[in-house]
Formats: sequence, structure tokens, C-alpha cells
Amino acid sequence: MRNWLFLLAVLVLLGAVYERFQSDGDTGLPVEHAEKGNAIGTPTSDNAENSPPVNELTFQVEPDQVRKGNLLLVNEEIAVPPNKADAKAVNLFKHKELVDGFGLLDNSIRLSPELAKAFTTMVKHAAVDGVKNFLISSGYRSDQEQQALYEQLGPEIAAVPGHSEHSLGLALDIGSTTGQMKDAPEGIWLKQNAWKYGFIVRYPEDKTEITGVIHEPWHIRYVGLPHSAIMQENHWAFEEYLVHLKERKSMTAIVEGKTYIVYYFPVASNTTLRVPVVGNYELSGNNTDGVIVTVFDIVN
Ligand SMILES: [Zn+2]
Repeated sequence: MRNWLFLLAVLVLLGAVYERFQSDGDTGLPVEHAEKGNAIGTPTSDNAENSPPVNELTFQVEPDQVRKGNLLLVNEEIAVPPNKADAKAVNLFKHKELVDGFGLLDNSIRLSPELAKAFTTMVKHAAVDGVKNFLISSGYRSDQEQQALYEQLGPEIAAVPGHSEHSLGLALDIGSTTGQMKDAPEGIWLKQNAWKYGFIVRYPEDKTEITGVIHEPWHIRYVGLPHSAIMQENHWAFEEYLVHLKERKSMTAIVEGKTYIVYYFPVASNTTLRVPVVGNYELSGNNTDGVIVTVFDIVN
């Protein structure tokens, strides 16, 4: 009798293992992510505590990671942290090889080569749609340059020095040679398509209460994929995205057939992160209290 009971227990256990294997077998993702991730930006809550992870990424992060990366939030309350944007920015007028498919408002515009290339990729796709009159009117700005602008334009138009995304090195002001961005084909195209290239139109008309900034159809910010896609799909301002991600702890997005899982972890001191999935990953701080791990090329 005791042997029968033992066999029954083994069978039940095997059944449980088989079920677990089945649900993970197709994608290597926890089943909840795989099932709900069939539309871009569909948020899912992280259920990792309930079922032990089959695989995981484990690595150490230091507290200064909170202030580094493409997802740093900067607004009237949160300042630009010390960063290397000044060293990375080059004068585009002197680097003509980086100017391809768009114009420059003047000869002082500076940008990191990486951001210039991301912008070039985007405008080349816009040109295929017949939209090709883009102009960069502002790129990287040092605190001194922001101070001068602030004194010239005032607080309604210009951010307080130390609180401009331009000083992060991740923002661009875009104009059109054909008119105001609000109505120009370039502005309309950016609003509809910038997210595909990792950019967001950072200060939309209906989010001024959240962003604290007037409608700026010309100001785009680089955050990278899939973050721009998640914000577009859910109609979230950057502030809202970071709040939702923090609440839900993880979100899955499928963009152009590529699966990403985004995790938020609070980080206050040296921390070992355990991410319940295996793949390539990128790290960015949120500039307040934690880091965001973006996993892609997920190993099945
Ligand atoms: Zn701007």
C-alpha cells in the first residue's frame, strides 16, 4: 500500500512538471507573458513569485546605475544627473557625414553620433512616405546654453537649467521647412511614427498636466524600443509609463515580431538582480529610485 501511495505521489509530481514544461516549452517565457503579449505594449503583471523561474539572469547593479541610461526621467521636479552627454555631443555642422536627409537650423547644433544615426534612420523612412523636410533646430544643450535660453525665452517656453532633456543628450527639437510642426507633414508624421524608431513626442497636447510642459510637437526624446511602442500603444506620457511599470513590475511587448520583457527593480544600494528570463538585456535607471531591465533575444 505504501508503494502505491509513493507511485501516486510521483505521478502527480511528474504531471505537474510536465504541465510546467508544456506551458514554457513553446516560447521559454512564463506562460502569462506569452499569452498576453500578442499585442504591442500589453502590460502584464509579473507573477514570478508564484512559480519558481526555470531560468534567470543574475547580475549586480550599483546605485549609480539609477542615474544612467536612455530611460532617465527629467522634468521640472527631477534634475539632469551628472552625465557624459557633453563629451559625446559633436557639432553636426562639422560632421557632415552625420547629416543625411535633414537640414540644420544653424551651425551650432550638437548631438551624439548615436542619436544622429537614430534620427537619420527615422527620417529615411519618413522620406519613403514622402515626408522629407525635416530640420534639427536644437540638440544637446549644456547647462550654460540652457541658462541663456531660459533668460531669453522665460519659464513658459524654456526649462529651468538642470531640468532640460536637451542636457541629457537624448532630446531633439525638430522643425519643418514647410511650416509649423503642429500642422506640417513632418510634425504629423512624427506624432504617428516616431515610436517605431525609439523616439517619443515627449510633450503631447493632452498630457500637459502630467508633463508640466506646454504642447511641443517639435520636441522628441529618445527612449529606445520597446519603450516608445508601449507608450504609444497605451497612450502614456513618459511619466505615466514609469509609474505603470513600477506598479506592475514587468511588461511584455512584441514589436515587429520581436519580444521584449521589461522589468522594474528598486535599487537603493548594491543589489543583486534576479531576472526570471534569459536573453540579451539593456539596463537603464529611471533617475529616481530604480533600474529598468529590458530583455530581448530571449532564449527558449
Ligand atoms: Zn526641446
